[in-house]
Amino acid sequence: MLLRLRSMPSLIDALFMPSCCACGQEAPLIVVPHVGVRACEVCALDLWATDIQVSLRECRRRYAFFEYDGPVVRLLSRAKDEAYGSHYYAVLALFTDAAAQLISHERAVEIIVTPVPPSLRRSLTGWYLPSAMARHLAKKINAKYAHLLRRKKQVARQSDLGAIERWTNVHGCFAPRRFPMRNFTKDSLVVVVDDVSTTGASLGEAVRCLRQIGYTNVMAISLAISPLRSRGC
Ligand SMILES: [Zn+2]
Repeated sequence: MLLRLRSMPSLIDALFMPSCCACGQEAPLIVVPHVGVRACEVCALDLWATDIQVSLRECRRRYAFFEYDGPVVRLLSRAKDEAYGSHYYAVLALFTDAAAQLISHERAVEIIVTPVPPSLRRSLTGWYLPSAMARHLAKKINAKYAHLLRRKKQVARQSDLGAIERWTNVHGCFAPRRFPMRNFTKDSLVVVVDDVSTTGASLGEAVRCLRQIGYTNVMAISLAISPLRSRGC
């Protein structure tokens, strides 16, 4: 029963939280098409997913659906800290809908969805949004969900660093999981999922590591992309 209730976020919102999923304003609200989340008119316009493609050296197929700005920032920062709240469902719905459409153009026999490995701090809290996003996407597109990578070493917080420092900071920080998934073929399309990417350093490092294991067909998707703001300004 609880699981069924959890799968009906818009109903729960309608009963208990009739407010905008991003800014919390109470009325008037509209339902964002395809996704089913409620938002005020201003936020609803910003919650319209657009495919943004910013290629990485490691991965030409790197996509995001939103600029990290306005209601998306509010949604993500709440969803990161609260599992199973209305923000969490809104993020999952926005991501899954856009990513499923993007992947539907791919011709792959088997698809594996994997999250960028969490930092030690995140893995200790036991709650990590990219894992939930990857799992939800895999279920929707009938793909396999697996942690193909693990974190090998801890690094400084990416948000405190500049562009070049970010790349050197994460270099070599991921490794293949200890027990490889033997039933996965290396021809599979691997979709690496993250919530927000900035320079793409973590996504790029994850893609590089996956290629080293032998996966050649790799896509990197984050929900939002954030321009690197220079520090001190
Ligand atoms: Zn709003």
